[in-house]
Amino acid sequence: MKNFIEITLGTGVGSGIVINGQLVYGHDGFAGELGHVIVERNGRLCGCGRKGCLEAYCSATGVARTAKERLEQSKEPSLLRAITDRPIESKDVYDAAVKGDKIALEIFEFTGKLLGEALADFVAFSAPEAIILFGGLTKSGEYIMKPVREALDNTVLRIWKGKVKVLVSELKDSDAAVLGASALGWEA
Ligand SMILES: [Zn+2]
Repeated sequence: MKNFIEITLGTGVGSGIVINGQLVYGHDGFAGELGHVIVERNGRLCGCGRKGCLEAYCSATGVARTAKERLEQSKEPSLLRAITDRPIESKDVYDAAVKGDKIALEIFEFTGKLLGEALADFVAFSAPEAIILFGGLTKSGEYIMKPVREALDNTVLRIWKGKVKVLVSELKDSDAAVLGASALGWEA
């Protein structure tokens, strides 16, 4: 594949854009900061100092923040309310979703929709053949992937409808950074 975008959904959101087989560096090497594209004007404060970045919503940290917000905003029962001795983590939301918890399922719907809509915009930039997702959040499987695919399909420009694959990387977590760094050496 010579045209794709890779997005890592970890503590933050990282990304790399490959066009015509070449990783895009930009003039200073920082190209591909898609995690800091704004998905919600005047939204949540992001670690970078801006408001409403994708990373503030669609990272593991973002999911945990959504959970905290949702629980505070409603009185609806949820398995997540039982966690009182420590901050809620994205893994807790997954565990609750597996048990059919309504709030947990809604959190994944919300997160997946935002991410899918953002992906639709990214597609417009470089017309990738696929978007490859990686990182902790992808372990939530279809809970996140289904709303991502639906939102992408619903919002992508018509000329790309049904043409962009959304894949989950098969690399092992710890291998990815080493392989990525090695690949740069290979090219140099
Ligand atoms: Zn940011």
